[in-house]
Amino acid sequence: MSVTRRTSIAAALAAPALATLPAAAQQAAPQAQGSRQAPGFYRSKVGTYEVTVVNDGFNRRPNPAEGFVRNADAAAVNRALEAEMLPTGHLDITFNITFVNTGSELILFDTGTGGLLAPTAGTMWDNMAAAGIDPARVNKIVFTHFHGDHVSGLVTREGQARFPNAELIVPETEWAFWMGERAPQQPAAMVKGRFGPYAADRIRRVASNAEVAPGIAGVPTHGHTPGHTSYLISSGSSTLIVLGDVTNHPTINARNPGWHVVFDMDAAEAEATRRRLFDRAAADRTPIVGYHWPFPSIGYVRPQGNGYDVIAAPWTSAI
Ligand SMILES: [Zn+2]
Repeated sequence: MSVTRRTSIAAALAAPALATLPAAAQQAAPQAQGSRQAPGFYRSKVGTYEVTVVNDGFNRRPNPAEGFVRNADAAAVNRALEAEMLPTGHLDITFNITFVNTGSELILFDTGTGGLLAPTAGTMWDNMAAAGIDPARVNKIVFTHFHGDHVSGLVTREGQARFPNAELIVPETEWAFWMGERAPQQPAAMVKGRFGPYAADRIRRVASNAEVAPGIAGVPTHGHTPGHTSYLISSGSSTLIVLGDVTNHPTINARNPGWHVVFDMDAAEAEATRRRLFDRAAADRTPIVGYHWPFPSIGYVRPQGNGYDVIAAPWTSAI
């Protein structure tokens, strides 16, 4: 904040009543209680299914106006950030992983960064422990796509399987791309390494619209990657979309769905997918959990101007 702005706020707030507060009320704030955030997990229900979103920290991207959005100039990106009270010097891109307990299965959607991608990411393990989630009890892992921030948590730093009892369910188009010859070599090697410790007969390739568990079906949302897949969870009359990376940070490409971030592999298809899914979700008032949306990352989209507002679902202590 600039000194000028700070001074003007101080002047605006300098009501006579403040000047006459008793001395005790003017004491400095007590010392901070610690340098760690509270455990980052959040529970809610979709019908009878229990959903737990677990935070895996964030990656800080410096100068988001430079080189992040392919088809918008720096001034436009800075204006978008400023309009939503965000700094322009950096953009924190958060990672949120969804667990669904159906009563008979514990299903994980994507696996986070595994602490392998950024010093500020990798909090998933502590947050899972705080939430009482034992990785050995996860019996299914369902993937939206294979970028590093979604598959790296499959393995420990030593390269061992983190989820020894899980069946891995992968969109067949995504698998075919990353395991085939068209994929860029270096990221493809990373992907193969993450799946490597899991026996081939524990990996099930399915169509992007397949039912992966009772009431949980894939929704083809290709574009971000060739086989990118979202999931619709239905229980009773309630639904929730597990979005994956149909958007990155919502200020960037929910507010501006025509903006193409560098991670969108087929940017035109990704944009068409984004608009189609959000128009439908807005019309149906379907809640969405967004992998890169601010924690706890559950909200609704609403058409606004040329894009969409993301409206956070109200936080509640009730489950
Ligand atoms: Zn991602």
